[in-house]
Amino acid sequence: MKIMANRLDRGFERYQEELESKALEVLRSGWYVLGKEVESFEREFASHVGARYCVGLASGLDALWLAFRVLGIGKGDEVIVQANTYIASVMGITINGATPVFVEPDQYFNMDVDKIEEKITAKTKAILVVHLYGQASRMDKVVDLCRKYKLRLVEDCAQSHDSCFQGKATGTFGDIGCFSFYPSKNLGAFGDAGAIVTNDEKLAADMRMYRNYGSEKRYYNKVVGANSRLDELQAGLLRVRLSHMEELTAERKKLGERYLRELRNEEITLPGIAEGCDHVWHQFVIRCNRREELIQYLAEREIGTIIHYPIPPHLSEAYGYLGYQKGAYPITERYADTVLSIPMYNGMTEEEQSFVIEALNGF
Ligand SMILES: *Cc1c(COP(=O)(O)O)cnc(C)c1O
Repeated sequence: MKIMANRLDRGFERYQEELESKALEVLRSGWYVLGKEVESFEREFASHVGARYCVGLASGLDALWLAFRVLGIGKGDEVIVQANTYIASVMGITINGATPVFVEPDQYFNMDVDKIEEKITAKTKAILVVHLYGQASRMDKVVDLCRKYKLRLVEDCAQSHDSCFQGKATGTFGDIGCFSFYPSKNLGAFGDAGAIVTNDEKLAADMRMYRNYGSEKRYYNKVVGANSRLDELQAGLLRVRLSHMEELTAERKKLGERYLRELRNEEITLPGIAEGCDHVWHQFVIRCNRREELIQYLAEREIGTIIHYPIPPHLSEAYGYLGYQKGAYPITERYADTVLSIPMYNGMTEEEQSFVIEALNGF
């Protein structure tokens, strides 16, 4: 049985009729950018998350860098972020000229909230929390720190759609929640797409301006903005998917829980779940000291895996200019050397999961 790490076709097939009919509807409408599908999606997504405003954008990276742009954070400012995140989180900070200040992750792969305060300086302007792999971060402490030091709070929810901390949705704890709808995300479009959510009317209005060349009124440009508009086709298709989100998230939770229950191997460390933190299993990430052997072993059985992520941002070529050496963030680096994402996707059959479990337990 061949099992890929991810199967996007399954996600399409399940709602194929609805998706195809929506696509045709948009194609036949004669209106393709910033129209009624985008407006409806923004309204529905804001309400789904429990935020007052949503602004549709072209990608998750745009959501991140535009968030810091509208917050006025740039050159000379520092933003605290976890060191083991996907590099796009860090790019959201540095595109604006601000400096990322890294914090090591905890045992749950999220920012170690007990190590944030020591990183706060006079230049710190914001904390960027990434709810990595789909598990909500422990937000109570972060929110307290932001209040105490008057810092902005931005959340990277690219992997945490529907994930909650103590019953409150990720993306609603701070000033701006940033989402990606890249096809492989838990709420995926059929191309690139993203959005921000906020309760602040001014930030939402500024975001609308920035996404459209810095103009509120056509051809009257107030700021140097971007072209980061969500298109009607993606918005329409996202609305179809969003209407099934409860079912999709429940399915992932069931898959995640079964892995936790049935995987048993001393060579493999299973992911943990912190108290009060929901996990929507964007990825099911195990750790193994013999990772290369394990990848090979699974590949021989036609089971696909992915490493999220093999090179931490501080050691990537892109951030060579920050001047970090190997050893700067040992926990992050240890994770980069040992993490492995096993197959996890909507539409994974019981039989497929059994096959993966048996293989892993036999390693
Ligand atoms: C996918 C992802 C992004 C970037 O989203 P894009 O839509 O691909 O630009 C940012 N942060 C995290 C944590 C992600 O997983």
